Amino acid sequence: MYALEMRDVAKAFGPTRALKGVTLTVRPGEVHALLGENGAGKSTLMKILAGAYRPDSGEIRLGGRPVVIHSPHAAREAGIAMIYQELNLAPHLSIEDNIMLGREASHWGWLSRGTQRPRVRDVLARLGHPHLSPDTLAGDLSVGMQQLIEIARALVFDAQVLVFDEPTSSLTQADTARLFDVIRRLRAEGRAVIYISHFLEEIRQVCDAYTVLRDGELAGTGPLDAATDARIATLMIGRSLDELFPTVPHTPGEPLLDVSQLAGQRLPRGATLTLHRGEILGLAGLVGSGRTEFLRCLYGLDAVRSGRITVAGKSLQGGPAARMRGGLGLVSEDRKGEGLAQSLSVADNLTASRLGPYTRAGWLRLSARKRAVRQWMGKLAIKARHPDQPVSELSGGNQQKIALARVLHEEADVILLDEPTRGIDVGTKSELYRLMGESAAGGKAVLFVSSYFRELLATCDRIAVMVRGEIREVRPARDWTEESLMIAATGGLAEPPADRIPPPLTPANPPRGSSSTD
Ligand code: ADP
Ligand code: MG
Repeated sequence: MYALEMRDVAKAFGPTRALKGVTLTVRPGEVHALLGENGAGKSTLMKILAGAYRPDSGEIRLGGRPVVIHSPHAAREAGIAMIYQELNLAPHLSIEDNIMLGREASHWGWLSRGTQRPRVRDVLARLGHPHLSPDTLAGDLSVGMQQLIEIARALVFDAQVLVFDEPTSSLTQADTARLFDVIRRLRAEGRAVIYISHFLEEIRQVCDAYTVLRDGELAGTGPLDAATDARIATLMIGRSLDELFPTVPHTPGEPLLDVSQLAGQRLPRGATLTLHRGEILGLAGLVGSGRTEFLRCLYGLDAVRSGRITVAGKSLQGGPAARMRGGLGLVSEDRKGEGLAQSLSVADNLTASRLGPYTRAGWLRLSARKRAVRQWMGKLAIKARHPDQPVSELSGGNQQKIALARVLHEEADVILLDEPTRGIDVGTKSELYRLMGESAAGGKAVLFVSSYFRELLATCDRIAVMVRGEIREVRPARDWTEESLMIAATGGLAEPPADRIPPPLTPANPPRGSSSTD
């Protein structure tokens, strides 16, 4: 018997088929990992379960009984609870009020504090916090404790199915460990838990079974013990890791781009970096750390307050046109806004910044240009019907290739890429990695800004980490891990592993130097 069955669930948003008939089954007392790359359909499936979206087709059963979940309220009544990344507590209300919120209307139409309090205490105790006062204001709690209150609320409603959507992304390691304890308690109580996360290591700690979605379809499911990490990664990306990250041999040479103490109006704040010919240098960091501003300052799009930029020893100044002549090329994060002129053709977008080769005595030789553009389209496998097609008609991945083709066409020596693989399919990602490798092999230098640590680790020679507008640390890629990058990106504030946390200073554990007799 399953606690939850979602069978052949389909959902489209206009032309986007987010779910193409997906099945997910979870047993009571099971923690089930729901996995998949960005855009695979995980959140859509869970929003259907939560009553936020209606499925186009498919069936949902709870404890074997078919149900129709037509609203968030209906989901809650049916015993389904969502614990989201961003918490939904009222900070000015007490723990008790938050837990009972939405539950207050009793059969008698009024609220009985007397019967309410023991239930709150019972739930807190079951979650391992018998001493927490129900009167504490939610706003005074840590993020981890606030999350616990959300879970307590789910238990007061006696939720049988609990969904955690990337619950640890803003938790410290200690809070994460506590959360895992709570999830194990939920499992021991026979509840069904669905756990969404990108971190396989976490999933191995708490989950029993897994389901992988890929492009809105079921890619695989089964007990976690029976699947290796490599197997799961392969299910997620639809090909092996070697295929996703093609290796193009290249060797870093002499310094090419030298940036010293670069500061913008707000960000960056004194960033220093050296990029070599034939090198792919990754730039990791959290959103808002200043990586985009750094590239914009380099390319002359944002005003530079102080600092020095040289390419092959020559100092760079002025606006984007001057920087381009100086050897820089930028593929910006915002493809739609400043990246490409959406209404213009593939040919115009690709060549407008360097028409020289197709101009003779002041005339643009259209046929020569068209031939060249066709060659670029072939080289980068750009799927457009013809060079005159407006770029607005192309998919995001193909637009991204045109943005890169333009920079290559400009014959930039230093290629600046800002989140180039975001929101594009795995096949195109893989082609972009190959083009980056080929560029490095051709003696160019590539600066690769990305928030996906895995792709940085797989494609870069070195990786630098930006924190609050400064380059904090640069190391060869092989000396980083996803975890150490995350710690560096958060400013090294992540807690050390538990075995390195010093014991608390309690009377039983006096500080060194005090008179102790053991
Ligand atoms: P995941 O949570 O696995 O990253 P999502 O369920 O958020 O994936 O998205 C699946 C697909 O559906 C993506 O292509 C996404 O762009 C699309 N999508 C999700 N929600 C909406 C929406 N409200 N409107 C249009 N498209 C959406
Ligand atoms: Mg999601």
